[in-house]
Amino acid sequence: MPLLVQKYGGTSLGSKERIEAVAEKVIAYKDQGNDMVVVVSAMSGETNRLVAMAQEIDPNPKGRELDVLLTTGEQVTIALLAMALHKRGYAAKSYTGAQARIITDSRHNKARIKSIDHEKIRRDLKSGNIVVVAGFQGIDEENNITTLGRGGSDTTGVALAAALKADECQIFTDVDGVYTTDPRVVPEARRLKTLTYEEMLEMASLGSKVLQIRAVEFARKYEVPIRVLSSFEEGEGTLITTDDEADETMEQALISGIAFNRDEAQLTINGVADTPGVAYQILGPVSDANIEVDMILQNIGADGTTDFTFTVHRNDYEAALASLKQTAKKLKAREVTGNNRIVKISIVGVGMRSHAGIASRMFELLANEGINILMISTSEIKISVVVDEKYLELAVRALHEGFDLKSES
Ligand code: ADP
Ligand code: ASP
Ligand code: MG
Repeated sequence: MPLLVQKYGGTSLGSKERIEAVAEKVIAYKDQGNDMVVVVSAMSGETNRLVAMAQEIDPNPKGRELDVLLTTGEQVTIALLAMALHKRGYAAKSYTGAQARIITDSRHNKARIKSIDHEKIRRDLKSGNIVVVAGFQGIDEENNITTLGRGGSDTTGVALAAALKADECQIFTDVDGVYTTDPRVVPEARRLKTLTYEEMLEMASLGSKVLQIRAVEFARKYEVPIRVLSSFEEGEGTLITTDDEADETMEQALISGIAFNRDEAQLTINGVADTPGVAYQILGPVSDANIEVDMILQNIGADGTTDFTFTVHRNDYEAALASLKQTAKKLKAREVTGNNRIVKISIVGVGMRSHAGIASRMFELLANEGINILMISTSEIKISVVVDEKYLELAVRALHEGFDLKSES
């Protein structure tokens, strides 16, 4: 019997009526002869509400306790969905992450799944149950409750699909697939029929929050086909799969999508001695403060000194600035500057590999709009620029239009 793992996001479960609608949808798939495992998120807004409540008590709550709190969101939806299934005459069992034996490491708020003991789920399926599992959560070896980072229910879905060798992992959300860019910013964005794991991984890591990065990594590693679909309308959605299986026309597209990240901040230290070890002296303390650095840029030295710029998550801006100011004193740097009103915009596409001139076209399109580029970074299949946040919409629209992403390539 085919086995489907379906994941429903917060908006799809945002009210009692929507939970009942999800039950109907799941039943339709069950009636077609599929074994069904359903992963759910908390109701939309619930995780944010819980975070805010924690912060009212302590602005910096301990990760362990925060995880105990945050996992309650998904505990509500698994129970309600199972009840809605029972009411309709279907056998169903709800499980928290811990009950489903989703074992993670101990990094609270950003734990990684290590293993899933899926025997129990298999037995339930065999006896005809629809199995409903709480997304975003697990348990470590010491029985501490953990969460997988925001958007983590996607990862639960894909990990379960991998463990159970499901035929497909279907991600139901509030858009009907993966688009050339966020359709909320560019209404002309086009839904992609297929996308390679590699491209989706770049899109996700460059800021497209339609799928959590870890979910795509898992899918690639275990070759789980992911399909992104709308909870509210019928359609074929977007299939994310291996290079060979992705549509040939897709392969020929130079650019498959545009991603952006509003969570960045930029820091610069000017006039540091241009000597071996200086990058380490600057970034060592930043990393010791547990701050992840994204883009890094060092200028060619002149007069024996150089400038060094890097970006971090906006939440880490103040801490990174403090660290850099201390380093500046030690290194007798000229000055430290920062800007937390920047965004990173990236164009992504495997077709870029074999084509020169994409970068200059990108810069030309931005120049035509009078947008100043603050930083640039490239890899085989992506080009990223940092610009002032006020240009985000304008830049994304100009690139979308200029690279003709509207029309099918
Ligand atoms: P869920 O709660 O179902 O997990 P998310 O809000 O996490 O839903 O993800 C869906 C959202 O991702 C969409 O509403 C859309 O605004 C956003 N998004 C960003 N980039 C893209 C893209 N390239 N294609 C589709 N959606 C995107
Ligand atoms: N409820 C969690 C969040 O809002 C997990 C998820 O929805 O994927 O981040
Ligand atoms: Mg999500």
